[in-house]
Amino acid sequence: MVVYGEGRYTCPEHGRQPAAPRAIADLDAGRFENPCPVCAGPMGWATVPEDARLDPRSSYAASKVAQEHYAAAWASQGGGRVVALRYHNVYGPGMPRDTPYSGVAAIFRSALERGEPPRVFEDGGQMRDFVHVDDVARANLAAIDAALAAAGSSYAAYNVCSGQPVSIAEVARLVARGAERDLEPVTTGEYRLGDVRHIVASPALATVELGFTAQVGPAKGLPAFATAPLR
Ligand SMILES: [Zn+2]
Repeated sequence: MVVYGEGRYTCPEHGRQPAAPRAIADLDAGRFENPCPVCAGPMGWATVPEDARLDPRSSYAASKVAQEHYAAAWASQGGGRVVALRYHNVYGPGMPRDTPYSGVAAIFRSALERGEPPRVFEDGGQMRDFVHVDDVARANLAAIDAALAAAGSSYAAYNVCSGQPVSIAEVARLVARGAERDLEPVTTGEYRLGDVRHIVASPALATVELGFTAQVGPAKGLPAFATAPLR
């Protein structure tokens, strides 16, 4: 999902608008929603489709965009068939314990294991899509089937997501519920510079073209993740 850089934002007055990096003064004052560039009012979120502008903001993200471009070039030059999968927030059993990819669900889980409440940054209203690893496996199989069925050279990219967006506060609540440690998440108001406020995938294209629909929603998958084995 890092290929997108930002999520998609809409102002109730002015419709879809680009989001500029959030100002430190706003973050310090607890104004976490991206301001509309026209009226400066808080913007809401919308789902990001695959044809959104690619905007890699780290070397890691740039490498993912480059991979897509290399694969697309290979497909058109050599008659290859490529399906690119843009995973959103993947979680589930077997997840590495301490890597940069573990993500916030694993961080919440580790806190609960230490007997500490999960610490939620900002106001907890950041929206994401958490997709279970079993669904990621299903998406990979669907992608292989699609590539095998394609006639001649082809390239397509798809979001791999649950289609059930959750706030980070809700992620913390769901993981804490599964841990059964009676530790309520704490919303700290802290923030990390450069964090994206919302990024929520559209699942529509993968459903239509790959026949992929997630089967493990966050309400079921995240509490189970609290006690799932890690590696
Ligand atoms: Zn506006």
